[in-house]
Amino acid sequence: MRFSLTEEQATGGLAVARRNLELLCTVPEFGDRYAEVTPPGTLAELAALPPLAKDDLNTALAHLEPTAEQGATWLFQSGGSTGAPKVGYAPTGFYMAKVFEHWQPLDRDDIFVNAWGAGRMWGAHFLAAGLADLSGCRVIALGSVTREEYPQWLGFLADRKVTAIGGTPSVLRLWFAHARAAGIELPSLRKVLWLGEAWQPQLEEDLALVAPKARRHGMFGSTETWVVGSNTPDCPADTFHPFPHQLVHVGDGGLLDFTSLDPAMLNPVLRYRTGDAGELTTCRCGRPGPAMRVLGRRDSVVQVRGLGLHVDELLARVEREPGVLRAQVVITEQGGRAKQVDVLVLGALSDPDALRRELLSATFTLSTAFVHDPEQVRVRVVDALVGNDRTGKTAAFVVRDETPMVGEES
Ligand SMILES: [Zn+2]
Repeated sequence: MRFSLTEEQATGGLAVARRNLELLCTVPEFGDRYAEVTPPGTLAELAALPPLAKDDLNTALAHLEPTAEQGATWLFQSGGSTGAPKVGYAPTGFYMAKVFEHWQPLDRDDIFVNAWGAGRMWGAHFLAAGLADLSGCRVIALGSVTREEYPQWLGFLADRKVTAIGGTPSVLRLWFAHARAAGIELPSLRKVLWLGEAWQPQLEEDLALVAPKARRHGMFGSTETWVVGSNTPDCPADTFHPFPHQLVHVGDGGLLDFTSLDPAMLNPVLRYRTGDAGELTTCRCGRPGPAMRVLGRRDSVVQVRGLGLHVDELLARVEREPGVLRAQVVITEQGGRAKQVDVLVLGALSDPDALRRELLSATFTLSTAFVHDPEQVRVRVVDALVGNDRTGKTAAFVVRDETPMVGEES
């Protein structure tokens, strides 16, 4: 399976792709990139179009400056997790009515805590609010809180008997870890909505203690594509069912690209690549039709002294250690060369040095690149990983330039 929709299902929506192609043809920076292409009337013609990278969409939007047919046009900043921030556009409602047609994790009886950070041009809080609006539930618009505030807010949420909470998995982990630490339980919590990062399996451990009835309900998307697909507790956490107005294509090298079939879409999303790799598969929940399995970002391989370091594999190894809540790779560069690799560990780790020796011997890139200075590979237990304050996301790896001190990709 290369496409999430059949030829027949996609045909009507391809008019949106042809309109977006016309718009992209007017962007001077693209030159003759689209000069030879055929306006897509079939899926094969669509797959023949050049894909859009993140920077391309930003270039196009700077030229097109789209505005909503009705209501306000919202500007959001996307990216910032693994690259420079970009600006994307969306109308009020954030396309959630189409999502709600197919996915209703909340209902009128829910008391929903919206814990995605609000403001700072980050879209997740607002699209979740849009979904809650359609659901008719009660909403507690909490946003992000500081470290000291968790126990107090958790007490409030327990008193209110909240039934649902939503946030990025990194933020949700903080909520449930603080609840565990403070001995606060949320027995009425049944639904955990998430978006923005991969699900973190360690969340299940916290939930089993803090909110044993809670089940996960995930969304997949980006600020460019908005919500592409969703899943239920019966689906694997890395597998999502794409919506009919979102066409998912598995391209070269397993890279996913997304094409909007929604006429109201403001961003010209035409074979747009988020950087995620994946495949189309059959979901174990039994729902028919192709489901999208996300296999992680292709940019999780980072160059260290000329060798590719598979960050996700390294972190998976570290996070299997008993007591480790989460880990992160921080690469310190000096003059464009990796000077040091730190594996930051959140949680309790009995013997960091033993783990360090094991990582060095078992990771070809580290043992080879640091053969003359192995002391530059370190494992450190820390109180907090390096996070992005704006989005609440914690990237798997952070590259710091020592001169100057900042320049983090978080
Ligand atoms: Zn499923």
